Amino acid sequence: MAILKVAILGNPVLRKIARPVALKDIRSRKFQALIDSMIETMTEYDGVGIAAPQVNVSKQILVLRVRNNRRYPNAPRVPLTVLINPHITPLSDEMESDFEGCLSVPNLSGAVPRFLRIRVEALNRRGKKVSFVAKGFHARVIQHENDHLQGKVFIDRMTDLTTLTYLAVSLARENAPVKKSPGGRRLPPSLRR
Ligand SMILES: [Zn+2]
Repeated sequence: MAILKVAILGNPVLRKIARPVALKDIRSRKFQALIDSMIETMTEYDGVGIAAPQVNVSKQILVLRVRNNRRYPNAPRVPLTVLINPHITPLSDEMESDFEGCLSVPNLSGAVPRFLRIRVEALNRRGKKVSFVAKGFHARVIQHENDHLQGKVFIDRMTDLTTLTYLAVSLARENAPVKKSPGGRRLPPSLRR
């Protein structure tokens, strides 16, 4: 296992469509080591997910895990999940806007509308088919990571660029005392993925 270098915006790998993984390659030692390194890299940088293009590998692999994370303590936990060749289908038109950040877009966060309920179909790290429904924050993380496989980053999905905020500013607001006045609106916790 190794902590991998994270590609940041401007690196062409983040704008490529990632290649599907062949079933026969999934069980190889090299492929399994890549998955382990992606998990280690996500953990090292305090992310809730990472996609292979973010570590300079243009393949359809993503990993996610949400647990006691100081950046978003109220987020529901998501067990460690590896998704290969994922396919996402929205289960309704209902969307919700919330703040996201990205390990590949350092220091910034912004409000991004995402589908509230999705069906996810993919292969797991043993090459077995998985299918499940994800909602809310869980669905948001998967949509964010899946976008990386399509050459997209969260900024491309923003509908209001005026919400783009430096993390240092949004974190300062989160830590400020809550005001009771209508002007005391607090930004939701920013997410790093
Ligand atoms: Zn990201």
